[in-house]
Parts: sequence; structure tokens; C-alpha cells
Amino acid sequence: MAHSKSHLPTKVCVVCQRPFTWRKKWEKNWHEVKYCSKRCQGNSKSKSSTKPRNSETPTTAPATDGQYRRAVE
Ligand SMILES: [Zn+2]
Repeated sequence: MAHSKSHLPTKVCVVCQRPFTWRKKWEKNWHEVKYCSKRCQGNSKSKSSTKPRNSETPTTAPATDGQYRRAVE
């Protein structure tokens, strides 16, 4: 029993699906840890806010309908 490191618990990161090992910094919230690193944590959080917003789209599908209604009224 010389090496206690081999007894450290492991988890699988929910973002990169890779196993990671318990760290000292997680000793108080290990049960809440879902990500192997801050990078993965940031990736999961910024998923919804990284959508590209194009105000001017070349393909006009429902936009013409709105213009038509506006002209009629
Ligand atoms: Zn990860």
C-alpha cells in the first residue's frame, strides 16, 4: 500500500467524454464535478450563446410573407 494515488476516484467528463481523476481542489465538491477542466465547463455553458446571428439572410422564406401582409393592411 505504498501508492495511494491509484485509489483516487475517477469520473467521465460530460463534455469531452474522457475520464478524469480526483483532484485535491475537488475534495469538497467532487460529487458535483462534471467537467475535467474549466475549458470543458466553459464549452458546455457557452453552447447556447455561440449561435451565429445573421440579420441579413440571402434565403428569404417567411420574410416575404411578412412584407406581403404589411402591404395588404
Ligand atoms: Zn472534458
